[in-house]
Amino acid sequence: MEDTILEIKGLKTHFLTDSGQIPAVNGVDLHLKKGEILGIVGESGCGKSVTSLSIMQLVQHPGKIVGGEILFNGEDLVHAKEKRMRQIRGNKIGMIFQEPMTSLNPVFTIGNQLIEAILIHNKISKREARMRAIEMLNLVGLPRANELVDEYPHQLSGGMRQRVMIAMAMVCEPEILIADEPTTALDVTIQAQILELMKKLNKETNTSIIMITHDLGVVAEMCDRIAVMYSGKVVEEGDTKSLFKNPQHPYTKGLIESVPDVRTKKDRLFSIPGSVPIPGSIKKGCHFAERCPYAFDTCREVAPSLLDVGNGQRARCHLHETEAKATLLQGASH
Ligand code: SF4
Repeated sequence: MEDTILEIKGLKTHFLTDSGQIPAVNGVDLHLKKGEILGIVGESGCGKSVTSLSIMQLVQHPGKIVGGEILFNGEDLVHAKEKRMRQIRGNKIGMIFQEPMTSLNPVFTIGNQLIEAILIHNKISKREARMRAIEMLNLVGLPRANELVDEYPHQLSGGMRQRVMIAMAMVCEPEILIADEPTTALDVTIQAQILELMKKLNKETNTSIIMITHDLGVVAEMCDRIAVMYSGKVVEEGDTKSLFKNPQHPYTKGLIESVPDVRTKKDRLFSIPGSVPIPGSIKKGCHFAERCPYAFDTCREVAPSLLDVGNGQRARCHLHETEAKATLLQGASH
């Protein structure tokens, strides 16, 4: 796929603990095209953040990538040396974290932190770097950027700090921006502004974005394509419109049904029963079987594979192995 900028094949990231190996990510296959916004969704504990940290080689001990490939423009990042990763992080692939206050250093000014990021990756003078920092703060819509550059993170509101984080991630014009729950800690109006800003940057700079979230509203608004993760694997993938209109995996269907709809009156909101299994606790079969309303005997014995289900969608579910059973799901999704 020549317009593919990132391809993840069979990625496995495990945590090697005293009580055994915990497979947080256990065979993830994903791809990202140039200029595309890909949403990765799923409940907490599905492996979304560990996947993104693996791309950056930022998984902390005792976590370790134990298998698979992460191809960035054809270069395998799994085996890249730390020196090479330092050239890639921030410069080629930027990352925005959930809570900006934990990512910004409270004892340095905004300007210092931005200028440092610029100088690490560019051979320009300090003065030029400062100008670039101010330019970037303006680009992310921060008011009075000339003064703000000399202020400290605690002097800014949460929304402003998140804009600074986006400015830091975008300052070296990365080819990929990974945003891990970038708006979770913000109120809804600021959230809408930040999402709008990311969309604008994507259009203007053609930066590919991976948006990690548990919020289906955010992916519907932002993303071209969606990968749904469950228990360390991608269980469904497809373009946003098709996936929302016609989910092909019972988990995706459950997630969509769990979103409250203001147009319909319900006594009780829908929720998927049970919770995400502890990684490694299920030894065979489909990991969603305990929570799945369609589960049958095979599901508890044999792990399903990711299958092409038409319309550009792929789903990891035995229902799609026979047409009759797939109809069950189709019928129930309308
Ligand atoms: Fe449900 Fe079986 Fe499909 Fe798993 S494989 S999602 S248990 S129907």
